[in-house]
Amino acid sequence: MKALVTGGAGFLGSHLCEHLLDQGAEVICMDNFLTGGPRNVEHLIDRPAFRIIECDLTGFVHVPDRLDLVLHFASAASPADYLRYPIETLRVGSTGTLHALGLAREKGARFVLASTSEVYGDPLEHPQRESYWGNVNPVGPRSVYDEAKRFAESLTTAYRQSRGTDTGIVRIFNTYGPRMRPFDGRAIPTFIRQALLGEPITITGDGSQTRSICYVDDTVAGVLAMAGSDFAGPVNIGNPDELTMLELATLVKELTGSSSPIEFIERPPDDPMVRRPDTSLAAERLGWRAVVPAAEGLRRTIAWFVDELSHRHRLERL
Ligand code: NAD
Repeated sequence: MKALVTGGAGFLGSHLCEHLLDQGAEVICMDNFLTGGPRNVEHLIDRPAFRIIECDLTGFVHVPDRLDLVLHFASAASPADYLRYPIETLRVGSTGTLHALGLAREKGARFVLASTSEVYGDPLEHPQRESYWGNVNPVGPRSVYDEAKRFAESLTTAYRQSRGTDTGIVRIFNTYGPRMRPFDGRAIPTFIRQALLGEPITITGDGSQTRSICYVDDTVAGVLAMAGSDFAGPVNIGNPDELTMLELATLVKELTGSSSPIEFIERPPDDPMVRRPDTSLAAERLGWRAVVPAAEGLRRTIAWFVDELSHRHRLERL
């Protein structure tokens, strides 16, 4: 099996590359290092079945190899990143997806799009089922990401229907784990970094908004189950255990043994109030469900952050 992972040097992409290699696949990681970097895959470089191609997916894309699978994960994903790179985010969701689909079609490969729970916007239906069409502000600050993904879903569906490409769409809910960047702006890396450095843990709003957080190994298993099926989706991949942001911050504080105070700061516009996947479709069609409890996943992530922050500290002192 030969797989191409776009965005393979990012957080999720690097875990996908690693799991695919462990399953005996040959893996090409394609990335322009906008929000990810070679460091995320440096532990894979010596594996003969692994190759990395530095390439912007919105430009000319050529892969001479045969391919059986294209996992399209290239896109800034944290709000801080896509607000810094709004046009790049729209371009990779549109032109980048077009190029990745073209490649899958040319090679006769299965294509899986990394879509997102953000297509549901600030949802009026709770929990969110795949049949819900969402509540997205098309001109709000988050729209560069949300609408890019909605367009990417539409494009993927059109390729399946009009070109016969074997496609699948996964709607991934908040995923966390090792290799998230401590300053990427997402809640979990922010809380862990602040707790470990003894800084105030900052919650946006009053902390009553909810998220359902999924450990990266669970998400990867769900994506690979989708890759191995012929299901079109869209299918939710996430952990249905729902926490308020205040509960999440308190859990991080407990698990790190931190004495950081919890502080409340301004909530960004269009921030969803609730978020919980209905994962019955994934269970029924893929035989998949998330199994790692939040406390366990957070413990593993915190252990990685302890190493990462001390590594940075050592570098700063050089
Ligand atoms: P990430 O920022 O760590 O990884 C994205 C990768 O895509 C980076 O390595 C980046 O350099 C690369 N990239 C961006 N634009 C590119 C381009 N034009 N050409 C080539 N490479 C490009 O983000 P992540 O959290 O790993 O997310 C990966 C994918 O999963 C994204 O598509 C995201 O929308 C989706 N997703 C993630 C989550 C999550 O919780 N992490 C949730 C829902 C969906």
